Amino acid sequence: MNKKKKGKLRKAFLAGILAISTTGCQTILPKQETDLNQDTYITEDFNGEFIHHIVNNKSKNRIDDFNRFCITANDNELKLASIQTSLDILKESSEFGNDLYNFAKDNNLHFCRKLEISKGASATYTSKLNVIKFGSVKNHDLKRLGIIAHEITHAIQDKNKLLFSNTEWDVKSNIKMSLAIESAAVIGSITLAFDMKQVGDDSLWSNFHDKARSNSPAQNVITSKILNIFERSYNIQKAAGSDHKSAMEFAMGKIWPEIFQVKTWRNYYIGTEITQYEDWMKRGFLDTKQIAIGNPSSLIIKDVGKLGTYDFSEYIKQYDLKINSIAITSNEHKQKIAELENIRKKRIEKKHGKLLVIK
Ligand SMILES: [Zn+2]
Repeated sequence: MNKKKKGKLRKAFLAGILAISTTGCQTILPKQETDLNQDTYITEDFNGEFIHHIVNNKSKNRIDDFNRFCITANDNELKLASIQTSLDILKESSEFGNDLYNFAKDNNLHFCRKLEISKGASATYTSKLNVIKFGSVKNHDLKRLGIIAHEITHAIQDKNKLLFSNTEWDVKSNIKMSLAIESAAVIGSITLAFDMKQVGDDSLWSNFHDKARSNSPAQNVITSKILNIFERSYNIQKAAGSDHKSAMEFAMGKIWPEIFQVKTWRNYYIGTEITQYEDWMKRGFLDTKQIAIGNPSSLIIKDVGKLGTYDFSEYIKQYDLKINSIAITSNEHKQKIAELENIRKKRIEKKHGKLLVIK
């Protein structure tokens, strides 16, 4: 299910927004209203079904539209030059980059443009369509490369059945899952940048450092501190005799909990989860007989640390406590969470008589 949420919490600086498939969501939803005046070519309804609607409606064939506005890593025909160039760069960039590229190729991931996309999001991955959608904002090549790494990471999570939220969980459990997922996707971009640097191309790494320096702290997802921890951790492991890949995995694990400390980033995803939860409530998805608190399990969290042929799950295992005690610092968020859980509890009790809380 694509997360289609509107609201003041969306921020323009985020590198990528994931689309999440929902478990426990059985209700058939009405088709999404579409605005034909928008510069919109392809979108999907809430069930992830592909709806085509071209402005002026010249084409009746949705597959044609898909072929016109999407490419795969296997496409030779030049259609979306900027994205194709980025994929070519990714393929040759480094071992890790080649891993991501091969994943996209082997899984027939589609890269599409000029699709309806939420404001502020550079790109989204949509599970059911197997698509990474790029917004109409023009990105420079390095930024696009970072975004592609982020979104392919979401695709990897999806194919490993880790890209989901759950209507049977309480809101904090969904927040926990979302932050675990997003943090790993941020790591996808950082790891690519570092791996490229190790083989002589420091362009993406320098670009992250430059952005960290020039943006205000509130605008940074990838901070200088996180980049430095990655580099230092790698060097320490390498000096201790680890091979390149093991040292990389160690560094990936090290920055995973650090990303949760980036307050603006964290608050953004907390906000989007709350918005989604409220939307679920309105649609009646949360009228389940039970609420599971404290999920997802540490096993699920650990599995988020599997990225292509890289696996830093052993390292993130030790940080499980950290994600269990995610700081919800905004009073607005705290109030909203309390309010939603209270309404949910009452609705369940009214409907089912008794609420089962699973911990
Ligand atoms: Zn993301």
